[in-house]
Amino acid sequence: MILKVARMGHPVLRRRADPVTPEDFASGWVAATVRNLFDTMAEYDGVGLAAPQVHLSKRLAVVEVPGGPGQGIPPTPMINPVVQPLTEREMEIWEGCLSVPGLIGLVPRPAAVRVDYLDIDGRPSHRVVQGFAAAAVQHECDHLDGVLYVDRIRDRATLMFTEEYQRHHLGRGRAADGDGVDGASPAEVADDSRDGIPG
Ligand SMILES: [Zn+2]
Repeated sequence: MILKVARMGHPVLRRRADPVTPEDFASGWVAATVRNLFDTMAEYDGVGLAAPQVHLSKRLAVVEVPGGPGQGIPPTPMINPVVQPLTEREMEIWEGCLSVPGLIGLVPRPAAVRVDYLDIDGRPSHRVVQGFAAAAVQHECDHLDGVLYVDRIRDRATLMFTEEYQRHHLGRGRAADGDGVDGASPAEVADDSRDGIPG
């Protein structure tokens, strides 16, 4: 089922979401919500979606990032996720958000993270991700703490309409430390995230 997406300004996006409980698994709520999150994410061409974005203040998000091993993430529900940076190296990635439609901005984040979570059956699982995939995971987990990517933008001049980004900035990405992400050139970084992270 495709759900309505909350937009910036709705209080649900600023609340710290509640943990998913064993009862939520037992009742089938988790399985149904994960299905609805994937349906809604696909409808809007996102690479991630968090439950608060569909007015459910629970610590649950889904991600699916195209790309091969080490680059992408297969469709993955993350329940009660905890993110831990694996490096002090910082990257900057152009991000967008389904809850902040029409805008994009350059966000500094740790370049690699480990995320621990429960899978859809309630089993502990984890994933190590870097680059764009790491940004997607961090972006979705931020939603569970009431944080939006616009809060993390360092240079506010990089917050812009997506159309203007495509006209004036596409292919002119930059990395915080000047060497891009994972050996990619800054231009490739921008190209990778051409449409930001609509999640
Ligand atoms: Zn978002």
